[in-house]
Amino acid sequence: MTARPARTAGFPARLGGESGSVRPADADVLRPQRPLREAAREAARRQPPTGLGLDSEAVRRRMVQRLRGLGVTHEAVLAAMGAVPRHQFVDTALATQAYEDTSLPIGHGQTISKPVVVARMLQLLCERPGAASLRPLGRVLEIGTGCGYQAALLARLAQRVVSIERVQGLHLKAREHLDAVGARDVRLVFGDGRLGHAPLAPYDTVISAAGGEDIPEVWFEQLAPQGRLVAPMHSAAHGGQVLVVVDRDDQGLRRAIHGGVHFVPLANGVA
Ligand code: SAH
Repeated sequence: MTARPARTAGFPARLGGESGSVRPADADVLRPQRPLREAAREAARRQPPTGLGLDSEAVRRRMVQRLRGLGVTHEAVLAAMGAVPRHQFVDTALATQAYEDTSLPIGHGQTISKPVVVARMLQLLCERPGAASLRPLGRVLEIGTGCGYQAALLARLAQRVVSIERVQGLHLKAREHLDAVGARDVRLVFGDGRLGHAPLAPYDTVISAAGGEDIPEVWFEQLAPQGRLVAPMHSAAHGGQVLVVVDRDDQGLRRAIHGGVHFVPLANGVA
């Protein structure tokens, strides 16, 4: 899938205003692909694909059954996975694959993880070390909004969600996706997630969908007491990426490694 150019807010109106001679209709003629693509996207949103069962809950119920078979047991996580319409977060052309256990491209060279990987990450966030009871997610910081799918799931499980994305095109698209599914209260930030988001810190839960060489120190600084952080990170000892779980308890930070994973790289700066 090719990356789309970042959306230019108010393109036709602003172009007309700046040049003084190009009217909005002419601007559309100059860039016919854009209005066509937007019209297609709008139409797809108004009418979810039919005949494929994507607009019914049944297809999501089947996905949830598969997730149970793969060891996802937390009812709240399963309920969220059963409720959020994953097909509305991917390109229309990929919608038929939205409920298969596969990762999908979301543009800009990025991918949305397989449902089972997302569900296991969420499940891990809800657990507490050495306790059978689940922990509330509270105030969540997500690094790597991507298409917004995981943010929509988090919004169903948490008190508040702040999600940061470094690719502006994805950040803008995620806002459209989240608005379309009614998750308007998710706070989306365009910026480098390696810096966390100090204005709304501390967070009870920090989750990263991208893995770097280390875990930025500032994420720990923004982690609240009794907070939990889950992030992929490169480990030379394991010869690849591992999932790191860090808990802040009364003694300080406690770190555990949860096996090999494969997430996109945690990049620097914004794009
Ligand atoms: N949770 C997302 C998964 C997106 S993949 C979803 O449901 O779609 C990981 C995302 O992390 C990519 O969109 C990538 O652009 C973003 N990313 C990588 N490095 C980042 C950084 N430093 N700050 C913010 N986002 C970053």
